[in-house]
This record gives sequence, structure tokens and C-alpha cells, in this order.
Amino acid sequence: MREENCIFCRIANGEIPSKTLYEDEKFRVILDLGPATNGHALILPKEHYADLFELPKETAGEVMQLAQRMAGLMKDRLGCEGLNLVQNNGELAGQTVFHFHMHIIPRYPADGQKIGWKPREVSQEELEDIKNKITG
Ligand code: AMP
Ligand code: ZN
Repeated sequence: MREENCIFCRIANGEIPSKTLYEDEKFRVILDLGPATNGHALILPKEHYADLFELPKETAGEVMQLAQRMAGLMKDRLGCEGLNLVQNNGELAGQTVFHFHMHIIPRYPADGQKIGWKPREVSQEELEDIKNKITG
């Protein structure tokens, strides 16, 4: 299914031009228009899935294989020394376009970016409680 008003549906299916790095029948990989670093790319499925929760299991596996392939290209061609994969789900988590996408962010010395979180203190009891909530 494709959604009429979804910008990434339109880009992925070629209705809106993009700087395409890779394309096959299921995916398009494009350069991000607001890049964190040189080569910041997005993997877009051509079908519309809002987020990870909607993504079929098989497609999820294919996304990771494609990310690995693109990562290799970034290393060989751009000479990046590190790389972040980022994938936001839900507004609270920073998602702004509600069509599943995986960010591929090549990293370079002194690129001025910081992708991360602020670690909190946690007790063993809290960890045990959370573990039981998830797995119990
Ligand atoms: P997220 O915050 O994870 O939803 O990421 C959305 C990303 O899409 C941002 O990094 C934007 O810079 C990027 N973006 C939004 N519109 C476009 C577009 N038309 N072409 C390429 N990238 C886009
Ligand atoms: Zn879409």
C-alpha cells in the first residue's frame, strides 16, 4: 500500500526526484536533505509502513542487509571511520516522517555530531523489575 499524502511514498516510488544511491523493487536509498554528515542516507521501503511496529519481519531483515551494504560503500567511497544506524519510531522518539526509514550516518573525525543519550543511574532491583516486565 502507498499513501497519497506521504512524502516518502512519493520519493521511494520516484514521483518526487531524490539523490538516489540505490534502488531495487522493494527499496530506495536516498541522501537526506538535512544531513548530519556527508553521506547521511535514508533507506526507504517502497511500501508504506509507518514505523518498525508495522514493518513485516522479512522486510526488517532486508533493511539490515541493505544497511550493511550501504555502510560498506560509505567506508570505501567516503572513507568514513565510523557509522551510526538510527531509526526513530514515534514523535516522542524523534520521528518526523511517518513512513519507516533507517538513517545511515557516516562518521568522520571532528564531524561535530553527537548521537547518543544521557546515561542514568539504575539499581539492580530496577533492572530486575524491568527485565521481568519485558520477559515475564
Ligand atoms: P526522522 O526524524 O527520523 O523522521 O527523520 C526524517 C529525516 O528525513 C530527516 O533527517 C530529514 O532531514 C529527512 N527528510 C525530510 N524530508 C526529506 C526529503 N524530501 N528528502 C530527503 N530527506 C528528507
Ligand atoms: Zn509512505
